[in-house]
Amino acid sequence: MVAGAGTMGRGIAQVLVEAGFAVHLVDPVGEAAARGREAVRAAWARAVERGRLDPGRAEQYAGALSAAVSYGGVAGPPAWVIEAASENLGLKRALLAELDQRWPPETRIATNTSSLTIASLQGGLAHPERLGGLHFFNPVPRMALVEVISSPATGPEWTRAAWRLVGQLGKTAVGAPDRPGFLVNRLMRPFYGEALRLVEEEVARPEAVDRVIEGAGFPMGPFRLMDLVGIDVNLAVTEAVHAQTFGESRYRPHPLQVMMRDLGWLGRKTGRGFYEGGAAAPPASGSPPQPLPGGLVKGPPAFQAAWRALGLRGRLASEPPEPGLVRWVVDPDPDSEPPREAGPDTLVVVDGTRQHAEALAARWRRPVVGFDPALVLAGAGVMTVAGGGGEAAAQIFAPQRVEPVEDAYGHVFSRIVALLVDEALRFRPRMDREQVNQAVHLGVNQPRGPFEWLDLLGAPRVLGVLQALGRVGGDRYVPSEDLIRAAEREAAVDA
Ligand code: NAD
Repeated sequence: MVAGAGTMGRGIAQVLVEAGFAVHLVDPVGEAAARGREAVRAAWARAVERGRLDPGRAEQYAGALSAAVSYGGVAGPPAWVIEAASENLGLKRALLAELDQRWPPETRIATNTSSLTIASLQGGLAHPERLGGLHFFNPVPRMALVEVISSPATGPEWTRAAWRLVGQLGKTAVGAPDRPGFLVNRLMRPFYGEALRLVEEEVARPEAVDRVIEGAGFPMGPFRLMDLVGIDVNLAVTEAVHAQTFGESRYRPHPLQVMMRDLGWLGRKTGRGFYEGGAAAPPASGSPPQPLPGGLVKGPPAFQAAWRALGLRGRLASEPPEPGLVRWVVDPDPDSEPPREAGPDTLVVVDGTRQHAEALAARWRRPVVGFDPALVLAGAGVMTVAGGGGEAAAQIFAPQRVEPVEDAYGHVFSRIVALLVDEALRFRPRMDREQVNQAVHLGVNQPRGPFEWLDLLGAPRVLGVLQALGRVGGDRYVPSEDLIRAAEREAAVDA
């Protein structure tokens, strides 16, 4: 049985039927149950039209899916009830108590809540041990991840059966603790929170933030994703995690999203969100910039290799010197002195995520551009630059597309990723890193999980970005002790 025939309940019913279960879809509100069943049938009909589903099989599926407005009317007790009703504590508690009373203890119950803890739903139940969380992701038929959440009151038998069920559905289970936001939603808070702050602090506009993040391989930037998910839904999850952690500053919602919610600009579903009518402002286009000769690229071997792999030009510091003037130097490591290869007119391109390019330009009395070295390491098709020298920067970073941003710590990409990494390092109980990475791949389709970003960028770089942000941004940016330890370990290896 699936309780609740909205977006999630429909998808869950669909995958259950496809896995061989007979499913009763129940929703007491108006026509929701019947509409839900019709929507799932329509999905099967489309699959038949596209040749992806055998018509006989579709008919069989349709026969296995019934719908009703009340919980009676099923022959025997269901093996499973999956609750996917509206996200409301009182409503869910009443509904779960009703299910708990109606069915014998052998019927297992799972809730698909995204922001309430399992413990908060177990209170009034006679058999709390039969309730746990099965947190599916939207759209259910396409998303491979299911978080399996057991509270301390959930029985081990429930947990074993839940893992088996997820396997039967052909999906990947990841065990998540019964903490606010569980795993993926918790880890993802900074993705939105930092993006909103970047815009409010006028570091970059929403479209620019999205272009940078998408240029780094994410399927959607944070603003496009908020528009898709619903700004109200996203805000509600943030509010829930914030409230349940008693106001932890890293989860604090942002007034900008509250304003959007209050205006009813909720994203695609209302036709207006961060993008008006869903259409992004296109980046300024023009003819591709000509390469700027006379470049020298410094930095550790991994950086130089990533630079070359992107097709960026200039002589690598690891290559034999060439005669001729050095007209620009890229130096990804912060330094208090200008690179010794730079003459008085050489354009120096520095890591702008941990220092201000403008300050260095004034100190060194030469042109300085800030860039985000993490975008090179990530193999991104885009580069953020700050502090002037825009035209030259476009020539240096071609074929990357240059995105001018405010000369602010962390730029865009490094700031968001540093917080994603630190959030994962803070997560308790500590989880297997592979599992965390996998959950992020499968749950939100991100190209790398937080520990993969950590390995790629290195702990000292991530720590440096947080320390810089901490100078201006408060306790939200205090690095975790695990990050400090990781940076110390890497420094010891390098020394
Ligand atoms: P939705 O609003 O689309 O659907 C909720 C449905 O619950 C509605 O059809 C409503 O009529 C029904 N309902 C209300 N009272 C009910 C009751 N007493 N018994 C049965 N049904 C009842 O919401 P949704 O997006 O499908 O979310 C459902 C649950 O899944 C929520 O707990 C939500 O947090 C969770 N969830 C949502 C997403 C997502 O992206 N939408 C992802 C993961 C988890």
